[in-house]
Amino acid sequence: MKNVAILGSTGSIGTQTLDVIRHNNDLNLVAISAGSNITMLEEQIREFHPRLVAVWSESNAEQLRGRIADVTPACKIVSGMDGLLEVAAIAESDILITAVVGMIGIKPTIAAINAGKDIGLANKETLVTAGHIIMPLAKEKNVSILPVDSEHSAIFQCLNGERGNKIHKILLTASGGPFRGMNRKDLELVTLDMALKHPNWSMGKKITIDSSTMVNKGLEVIEAKWLFDVEPEQIEVVIQPQSIIHSMVEFEDGAVMAQLGTPDMRLPIQYALYYPNRIFLDGRRLDFSTLSEITFQKPDLDVFSGLQYAYDAIKIGGSMPTVLNAANEYAVAKFLNKKIHFLEIYKMIHFCMEQHSVIDNPTVEQILETEKWVYETIESRWNS
Ligand code: NDP
Ligand code: MG
Repeated sequence: MKNVAILGSTGSIGTQTLDVIRHNNDLNLVAISAGSNITMLEEQIREFHPRLVAVWSESNAEQLRGRIADVTPACKIVSGMDGLLEVAAIAESDILITAVVGMIGIKPTIAAINAGKDIGLANKETLVTAGHIIMPLAKEKNVSILPVDSEHSAIFQCLNGERGNKIHKILLTASGGPFRGMNRKDLELVTLDMALKHPNWSMGKKITIDSSTMVNKGLEVIEAKWLFDVEPEQIEVVIQPQSIIHSMVEFEDGAVMAQLGTPDMRLPIQYALYYPNRIFLDGRRLDFSTLSEITFQKPDLDVFSGLQYAYDAIKIGGSMPTVLNAANEYAVAKFLNKKIHFLEIYKMIHFCMEQHSVIDNPTVEQILETEKWVYETIESRWNS
């Protein structure tokens, strides 16, 4: 029996993780958290009986306590950052799935590692901003960081059994998103509704926008650097519009290993939960007799400049990836509220990166101060 805790159980990755747990009797849910969706949390409590649940505001926690008063055995409801930390480090869990969105995941992920929990990592923003803290800490605590992001799971699967064989290059595949093939003039005309229509994957809103700007791929380049200990120059983004090849690894002898499959996030989630084993997964399979084509293109970094900024940020290092990520989080929230235009997402990131004085090797507190600095910098430039 494996005991699982989830940060962000009401989201896209969170609900798919619960689906995997639902279909496997040897997985047991012990703790969950969400932002504010207490209606879905109530349903999850009644179905899975976790012993601990965290929501962000205390008023929502109070409401949820009232709603589940009849549930036995009783479930403890907690709130705020302390609540997230309690879920992350709950004594009964073996693994924490980090399916929360954004830098809010940094402190809980660190708390879980300190408590000796393996991490099924979906929350890439945490690794982008604090990879230099997370990876050495995980090593020190003998904790596994198991990638849930499909590309990184693919790379992880390609590396399985390679026992120290060096990676020559990572070929990180990208669908190219809904605006693949567009030029800068076309991007001036795109709307929120257009950006929310991803061609291959159904995901949370923030990552769907990140895919349309290709900032998601930039964050994934940084995520890959930390997970697989490679230099940014060794990571090449390849557009693979059908999202069938989930990523590839080229070894020193020129051999390329790839992982293929239909786009279904339950596979990488399940692989993280059962690693190193594979178990049956009910779902669509690749049918090579009907598959018409698998094609490749080079990404256009002049048009999708957010991807270029991510390469720049990781090459500069220190607090710069935090600036990239925080500016993107801020800008995407504004874009989702229809306050800014699509291309302003790039402008906000670029402006902050230009203004920033880099802090080498930032602590968690410095990372969070940098996030605050980014928000203030954008507000003083755009709102004054
Ligand atoms: P969603 O937006 O669908 O879900 C986010 C989850 O985080 C929800 O459960 C939400 O709760 C919770 N949350 C939001 N704010 C807070 C808060 N203040 N405190 C506690 N919990 C909070 O996101 P996704 O599932 O799409 O993505 C999650 C992470 O996984 C992201 O980092 C993303 O980049 C990554 N990822 C996602 C993929 C996908 O297919 N979706 C693929 C690869 C990576 P509530 O519902 O109450 O708001
Ligand atoms: Mg991905």
